[in-house]
Amino acid sequence: MSDNIQPVKVLSKTTWTPNLFSFTVTRPDSFKFSAGQFVRLGVNPSRLAYHQQKRSTDVPDEDIFRAYSIVSSPYDETLEFFSIVIKDGAFTSQLQHLQEGDELLLNTTPFGFLTLARYQEPVAKDLWLLATGTGLAPFLSMLQDLKTWEDYEHIILAYSARSEKELAYLDLIHSLEETFGSLVESPAKFTFVPIVTREKVEGALNARFPQLLISGELEDFAGAKLDPEHSHVMLCGNPQMVEDTRNTLRDEKGMVMNRRGVGNIAVENYW
Ligand code: NAP
Repeated sequence: MSDNIQPVKVLSKTTWTPNLFSFTVTRPDSFKFSAGQFVRLGVNPSRLAYHQQKRSTDVPDEDIFRAYSIVSSPYDETLEFFSIVIKDGAFTSQLQHLQEGDELLLNTTPFGFLTLARYQEPVAKDLWLLATGTGLAPFLSMLQDLKTWEDYEHIILAYSARSEKELAYLDLIHSLEETFGSLVESPAKFTFVPIVTREKVEGALNARFPQLLISGELEDFAGAKLDPEHSHVMLCGNPQMVEDTRNTLRDEKGMVMNRRGVGNIAVENYW
């Protein structure tokens, strides 16, 4: 096993829907990361308790690695991940069988540039975090980091899922402001914008991000304006959403990609 690969143990698993789950693992002492970063996680299907109990045959005896962004804050003692089950996907179709006590492998080199430290200009004022599906994960990490609450005046988290039951982590989201905002002197105001695209839900918006930007509904719900002079906008999730929303922000709001610290938009495709 190479030096930067460490075994980690599964501590818990939460099932949100048949296709969505989260799990926590032990955190090696030496492992450091910034909120918003990814790691590579490995699973050896033949070593999962599920297959051993079932005496499954035809299970690969090899380590399969995939990138996962971390839900936990850099200060948490354990590491949490949020996953979708991809039909016939070599990795997540195995990972869905995880049980407490199973062993995974963690590549302890974090990567990814969807971090708030990347922004130098414009100066921090409004932070817009726009996620679809499991692309929520890096934003939950940032929102559990006190510095985020200190640095901004207004934080807007907009999270889009196909159906209401696929909106995960609602209890955590609703507790963030009290838990973290209350610990800093002049915390950011926080607005959560739930978006459900394939059914009408009271209290949630009901269209894709580009449409919500063009119609003005996202800004109205947030009670804030997307302004190139003082907005930082992060996009994470469905690659087509990232592309379409980035283009809409450019065309409708005059926003530019953040390069070398300057610019409004930072993105990460989640698959
Ligand atoms: P999804 O299709 O990404 O939908 C989640 C939300 O994103 C929905 O509200 C959806 O709206 C919206 N959306 C989709 N395309 C958009 C666009 N171009 N602009 C703006 N919003 C957009 O659904 P999911 O359930 O998270 O994942 C669906 C499939 O993606 C899964 O079957 C899985 O195979 C794959 N996936 C793969 C990975 C991976 O790591 N390989 C990770 C996540 C998902 P609509 O309802 O209008 O479509």
